[in-house]
Amino acid sequence: MAYKTTIGLEIHVELKTKSKMFCDSSNDPLERHPNVNICPICLGHPGVLPVINEEAVRKVIKTGLALGCQIQEHSKFDRKNYFYPDLPKGYQISQYDMPLCKNGYLGKIRIRRVHLEEDTGRLIHPKGADYSLVDFNRAGIPLMELVTEPDISSAKEARQFAEELQLILRYIGVSDADMEKGQMRVEVNISLGKNNKLGTKAEIKNLNSFKAVQDALDYEIARQSEILESGQKLVQETRGWDDIRGKTYSQRIKEEAQDYRYFPEPDLPPLHFTKEQIKKISAEIAELPQQRRERFKKEYGLGEKEVEVLVRDKDLGEYFEKAASELGDIKLIKLCVNYILTDLHGLLKRASITDENFRITPENFADFIRFIGNGKLSSKLAKEVLAEMFSSGAEPSHIIQERGLVQISDESELGKIVEEIISQNPNPVEDFKKGKENALQFLVGQAMAKTRGKANPEKVRQILLTKLK
Ligand code: ADP
Ligand code: MG
Repeated sequence: MAYKTTIGLEIHVELKTKSKMFCDSSNDPLERHPNVNICPICLGHPGVLPVINEEAVRKVIKTGLALGCQIQEHSKFDRKNYFYPDLPKGYQISQYDMPLCKNGYLGKIRIRRVHLEEDTGRLIHPKGADYSLVDFNRAGIPLMELVTEPDISSAKEARQFAEELQLILRYIGVSDADMEKGQMRVEVNISLGKNNKLGTKAEIKNLNSFKAVQDALDYEIARQSEILESGQKLVQETRGWDDIRGKTYSQRIKEEAQDYRYFPEPDLPPLHFTKEQIKKISAEIAELPQQRRERFKKEYGLGEKEVEVLVRDKDLGEYFEKAASELGDIKLIKLCVNYILTDLHGLLKRASITDENFRITPENFADFIRFIGNGKLSSKLAKEVLAEMFSSGAEPSHIIQERGLVQISDESELGKIVEEIISQNPNPVEDFKKGKENALQFLVGQAMAKTRGKANPEKVRQILLTKLK
């Protein structure tokens, strides 16, 4: 019998801020030396006082606004008490009953809340050692938590939600949200139900990639339905994901809800925002990915795949638009997209357009496209020119002149070349007249070789055909 899959996500995101959530220690995700970005406040020394990082609060509100949430005019911080070696104070400052943002949505998925808290330290367990190490660089970094309603009904949909959320966070600049770096951490809750009733859920942790999110869910759907099919009952539990084996495994069974003894953080004032303040933050939100998709489709008539590449790589999309504004003409713009998605992509490999040593300006790229569009540059020579632009950063007109790469399209000039080819190749000419089509291609090839690739092959072909009639 078929079960209905129900999935809800809890997503933690490290915010991109200069300093930590409640002190002025640096928030530097690139720091490799342990315990350098620390101070008495984020180490939880007695008697210290936390101070709210306004930048972090604004970033959470910005996220809430981008996700259609109601931003709460009144909110507060609470202490979540539990004991663990990575938590220096013995409690985490979080938000409990009054989060900053409530009731949003992304596509058809409702978002229950988005709140602000602080990250914990990082535990390191050296292989074979009988001790563990603690790095507190991460302790106190602003951490945003987003909780969805259980509105997701497949593994693929869960993955798409997480991917789109990452894109939005990058567009609004609140986080780099790199899953591999732990800047975005996705926990999935999944249950299988019947007759419109929700089943017993399992929560899966340590998913380090979008693929892991999807694979773990697919695995869990199969596992849970097998158990239910056999007439057994599921237990509510937390499971881990083993990326190598491709399996989830039980971590702990939830006997009863853990009591975190939440209470309002006495050392921090409650938060108040006026409608005007919220409006101001809203005005800082530029175009969101979905709006950009629609605009790219409408404004440039691009196909879905092209739009997706240019929207997912925000910088590449902006580069394209700069080049497009130089070109104006829709035919050239389409040509421009083609070259970005094929040749330029090939040259870039995995590098980004924002890399310091990427030296093709959008203006030069537009010039390059214009040379192809007006027939001065053949597609074959174009590759050579682009490669040179990529390595030296030179202007295309320079490269074309210096290397003498202008395509020969002039009819009388090509006519002379074709005459020579005909007189130098009597046998192929005979073959062609006898009906051998291949011979024509050979003669075109001869003309290309003679001009070192500069002849316009289509024109050569036409001239040959008229002369050989
Ligand atoms: P808990 O009290 O166990 O933490 P919550 O109601 O707070 O559960 O929900 C936590 C997350 O689990 C949310 O993302 C929610 O959408 C999801 N969730 C809740 N119930 C289910 C269920 N039966 N199946 C799948 N996901 C669920
Ligand atoms: Mg909960």
